[in-house]
Amino acid sequence: MYEYRAPRRDMQFVLHEVLQAEQALAALGRDDLNRELIDGVLEEGAKFSESVLSPLHWQGDQEGARWERGAVRTPAGYKAAFDAFAAAGWMGTHCDEAFGGQGLPYMASIAAGETFVAGAMAWRMASGLTEGAVAALQHGAAPLQQTQFIPKMVAGEWTGTMCLTEPQCGTDLGLMRTRAVPSADGTYRLSGTKIFITYGEHDLTDNIVHLVLAKLPDAPGGTRGISLFVVPKRRLLADGSPGAANGVDCERIEHKMGIHGSPTCVMRFENAEGWLVGKPHGGLAVMFIMMNHARLGVALQGLALAERAWQAAALYATDRLQGRSLRGPVAVAQPADPLHVHPDVRRMLLTMRAFVEGGRVLLYQAYQWQDTLDRHPEAAVRQQAESLVGFVVPVAKAFLTDMAMEVTGMAVQVHGGHGFIRDTGVEQLMRDAKITCLYEGTNGIQALDLMGRKVIGSGGATVQTLLAEVQRVMATAPGAANVPAAWTAAVHRLAQELGELTTVVAGRVTHDTAEVGAAAHDYLNHAAYTLLAWCWWRTVAALEQDPGIATNESLVWTAGKRATARFFFERLLPRAAAHAAAVRAGAAGLMEVPAEALLA
Ligand SMILES: Cc1cc2nc3c(=O)[nH]c(=O)nc-3n(C[C@H](O)[C@H](O)[C@H](O)COP(=O)(O)OP(=O)(O)OC[C@H]3O[C@@H](n4cnc5c(N)ncnc54)[C@H](O)[C@@H]3O)c2cc1C
Repeated sequence: MYEYRAPRRDMQFVLHEVLQAEQALAALGRDDLNRELIDGVLEEGAKFSESVLSPLHWQGDQEGARWERGAVRTPAGYKAAFDAFAAAGWMGTHCDEAFGGQGLPYMASIAAGETFVAGAMAWRMASGLTEGAVAALQHGAAPLQQTQFIPKMVAGEWTGTMCLTEPQCGTDLGLMRTRAVPSADGTYRLSGTKIFITYGEHDLTDNIVHLVLAKLPDAPGGTRGISLFVVPKRRLLADGSPGAANGVDCERIEHKMGIHGSPTCVMRFENAEGWLVGKPHGGLAVMFIMMNHARLGVALQGLALAERAWQAAALYATDRLQGRSLRGPVAVAQPADPLHVHPDVRRMLLTMRAFVEGGRVLLYQAYQWQDTLDRHPEAAVRQQAESLVGFVVPVAKAFLTDMAMEVTGMAVQVHGGHGFIRDTGVEQLMRDAKITCLYEGTNGIQALDLMGRKVIGSGGATVQTLLAEVQRVMATAPGAANVPAAWTAAVHRLAQELGELTTVVAGRVTHDTAEVGAAAHDYLNHAAYTLLAWCWWRTVAALEQDPGIATNESLVWTAGKRATARFFFERLLPRAAAHAAAVRAGAAGLMEVPAEALLA
């Protein structure tokens, strides 16, 4: 069993050398957020994660959340950690200062955010969902609701949930049955059952703010008829403090594959008092605010679990002695060599590192675009950022979470049979990772969102904006001339191919609408490898720029980075060709087989 160590060196390199966080923040009018401050936020977060959260990762998995006659007990240590987190001000990192938050852009705190998830993902979901709920309330709620709920949530006195799913209604929200009936006093009475509600009930705080999707009596059919309501677990007294119970009950919690510390609740609403958020039938538009944040948050979960898996595998491959190097003994004084001498183990270690470190650049870049969208003073720049965010959110969510499955699976493989045994801890990472591919819209739905809504829906404009940004950065990066020419050519070739694939699919869709769904998964993956190649290209360009301190430590670190870049371009990037071929194959091979033959 090992404990998590925040990868400070890599995080700082990505923030400062690759993404120039200081300049990006200055463009948003935040030149007060300098390197020292950004690194200070990271250091504080890393210390909290390593000392308080990391032990809860295993503890929470072993003990799990427990349901006792409607109440839910979180694992030992969860509440103390939650209170300490809130007291340190972490709950309000991004929320407006007017509500008690710190108003920080993501770039100032994303690295700390990664350490919280890597520290204890199941624990972090309570505060992460609360931040998303606050964002939705800030965006869509009436001023009175905002002042009633947001400051309490930012202070960590109450948490937030997101209640969409019902037994018959998962991906297809149009099938929703929960009803909201208007009352004479302007409030609504909600009735229905929601399932799979993360932290729907718990013992961390004395009130819980549920954001609930439901239908009004006059709702039109399908997803156009969905409204959003804020429903507290306990009704509010005149002074805003929690009063009597509000017709919201937790019937049970699920027994599940991973994230055992996070209670997944079946919630029954019976005439629960709620307030409309936003316009009648306009609930999805507000909920999408929360979901966009949440989707980037889930991508962060994928990255953080993969980082933890990579760390465990790297340590084990150093400590475990088995066999001899094919080139002759390396550890001659030992009875055998460490695992990392073997080419196949190196293949796994380099794959893990290439995905984790390349994925970090991709995801932090996505957050940088989100900051630009949220805060840039010029409308034209915000508009460009909207396209970039629209494209990258489904790519990051689906690719980084599928990647987490591959990387955590490899961590088990590097551990051999011991990886299958609980004590080494890596099997938990694999179990925890799977949910990231499923919630916040399954990865199949992310691909549909990208291909259908973002790419075809914009007439290809989003992908053109993205490709222009790829070219612009490569043309202006200071270290560009020193990046191997083959790698530069590879990124340009893939970017061109992504444009061609867009044209191919757009042409076919006019004859057969199933072409969107048939191309979606492979199109998303081709886009992801293209972006990852761009990220690795930028990493190498930044290495060429960064004089660094010529210590042995920094030389070794730089050599590892360059070797990983080479591995990525030589051995992982060829996967993009397979995805391109699958996109070009079209829908026929998927759709022509009759259902009875498919399922025979
Ligand atoms: C641990 C956990 C925590 C969760 N937390 C929350 C929460 O806090 N709040 C909340 O509201 N929900 C939550 N969920 C629910 C989660 O978001 C849903 O499970 C998810 O959206 C998928 O819905 P479903 O399970 O009904 O699958 P289904 O919708 O039945 O999908 C099954 C399969 O079919 C595919 N599919 C479905 N429709 C289409 C389509 N049109 N095109 C292509 N493929 C399709 C899907 O991709 C999937 O592979 C949670 C779930 C779990 C397991």
